[in-house]
Amino acid sequence: MIQVEEALSIIAENSTSMPIRKIEVSKSLGYILATTVYSPIAMPPFRQSAMDGYAFIHSEKHQYDVIGSSQAGDHSKIALKENEAIRIFTGAFVPHNADTVVMQEHVMATEKSILITRMPQQYENVRNKGEQIGAEEIVFDANTLITPAAIGFLSCLGITEIEVYKKPKVAILVTGNELVKPGEKLPKGKIYESNSVMLQAALQTIGIKKAKVYKVKDNLKATKKALKEILKKYDIVLVSGGISVGDYDFVKEALLENGVEELFYKINQKPGKPMFFGSKNETLVFALPGNPASSLTNFYIYVYPAIKNRMGFSDIHLKKVIRKLKESVTNTTGKTLFLKALYDETDVTVLEGQSSAMLNTFAIANSLLIVPNEAQTLKKGQLVTLLPID
Ligand code: AMP
Ligand code: MG
Repeated sequence: MIQVEEALSIIAENSTSMPIRKIEVSKSLGYILATTVYSPIAMPPFRQSAMDGYAFIHSEKHQYDVIGSSQAGDHSKIALKENEAIRIFTGAFVPHNADTVVMQEHVMATEKSILITRMPQQYENVRNKGEQIGAEEIVFDANTLITPAAIGFLSCLGITEIEVYKKPKVAILVTGNELVKPGEKLPKGKIYESNSVMLQAALQTIGIKKAKVYKVKDNLKATKKALKEILKKYDIVLVSGGISVGDYDFVKEALLENGVEELFYKINQKPGKPMFFGSKNETLVFALPGNPASSLTNFYIYVYPAIKNRMGFSDIHLKKVIRKLKESVTNTTGKTLFLKALYDETDVTVLEGQSSAMLNTFAIANSLLIVPNEAQTLKKGQLVTLLPID
């Protein structure tokens, strides 16, 4: 059995980046850049008006003759004289010797002239060429997450393709004779199968939309056969259940017989102790405990950072926040505890019902409180570390 920190570092060492692929910018939401992107143009590409108003050469004068107009999309070659202005609109090209735009609300205008009633500063309301970025400058460094704004920025520079890390293909293999699909009739002795949809949903939060679900009975031959196929096709395999020490737990044996190398088995923690981590070629295998709360806890603590690492994220772990403990917590187990908790602006409250089989508490928790294995008591009022999962 290993400690949580060792498990995390073994996973980090083994979760190598996915291969790189080219992708259309319009389809790149949620991907991570694999290479630095440089701008092919300056942005703005020319000096633009930031307002609807009048462009002129800044001076003490308040009265100007209006000698023309520049609409967004125009390219006027007009050269202004000192007492001249042109009508101009937001985003339009500013004539080369004009330096200032006065907004139309600050002039009294006739058809041929304006009187400026509130004089802007020199250069006001003019967006300089390249004020966002110059040509050949870095748009984004590698390992940047592509957000909607990033897609907008890349597109406004005329960039249509980028290089990103591929997203891993993920399979979920669910084991258990007792499991029935929600929606079907529940025979005596059976329970509804909830881990697959729960893990699929958790995967969606990091941009893995199409995890494929396979199901097997508690049977060594069937488990081996299913894993043989799955291991060939996927980058990440999550197995649910069958990894404990019961007579009907066949997952570990089935994995080893399929040539999966064991990297660790069992972690000194609660919930989530019976977990196996291994690899075959580039595929990572996480055999998660079947108990639903253990399964999800270990997803957040181990699977989440591993997938983020493979996808190229630079920050891979759940963020940590520090809060004041509402009531003291005792840990006599010698294990690291991950306790379902609710935190607000200042405090954190540990919730009732921490059993690894219980999802009722998890479903209303917004965080996991970490109780280190060597900590006997965390005192009321003490600052503690938690992992938000909301
Ligand atoms: P196991 O790890 O296979 O020994 O399962 C531990 C507990 O979790 C048992 O009570 C199982 O019935 C339950 N369990 C296992 N897999 C699932 C699942 N996919 N959905 C809901 N409960 C499960
Ligand atoms: Mg089972």
